[in-house]
Amino acid sequence: MKQVSAICPGTFDPITNGHLDIIERAAAIFDTLYVAVLINSSKKPLFSLEERMALIKAATAHLPNVVVESSSGLLVHYAKAKGAKTIVRGLRAVSDFEYEMQIAAMNRTIDPEVETFFMMTNTQYSFLSSSIVKEVAQYHEDVSGLVPAVVEQALQTKFKK
Ligand code: ADP
Repeated sequence: MKQVSAICPGTFDPITNGHLDIIERAAAIFDTLYVAVLINSSKKPLFSLEERMALIKAATAHLPNVVVESSSGLLVHYAKAKGAKTIVRGLRAVSDFEYEMQIAAMNRTIDPEVETFFMMTNTQYSFLSSSIVKEVAQYHEDVSGLVPAVVEQALQTKFKK
């Protein structure tokens, strides 16, 4: 039978339970799900690429069909190289919509064979973002329930008093 792969791209600085929820749901649909950590020179991440990848690997260790990789350059080129025709993105609020539509439209212009699928966030994570988690964690507030346990530990180490 034909194997169907998809790409779940993002900055994941760091991975949150909102990301993980999308990854788990997508991994239940596709044979192989590539989680692509994007190397974006315009963003200054808190966690290095290696740290972000290690945290995603630890958080998705229970999902055997998830492969964590990094990707520089154009996402559609990466998708093509992996033989994947689907990009999966999560949508939280209306505020995500315009940005996502712009990127999906551009990706489709570059390669009409690559389709973007959107998954609605689980309502409990609709206000959850990596930025808000970092904001709260730097003041040593509790972020359990918002991020996987390994991320909670990594944030504590980063923001040690
Ligand atoms: P990017 O910088 O590419 O937006 P992010 O790491 O912020 O990367 O997000 C990656 C993907 O995960 C995006 O599709 C984003 O909308 C989605 N996402 C982020 N947080 C959540 C959440 N709480 N619920 C659902 N999807 C989310």
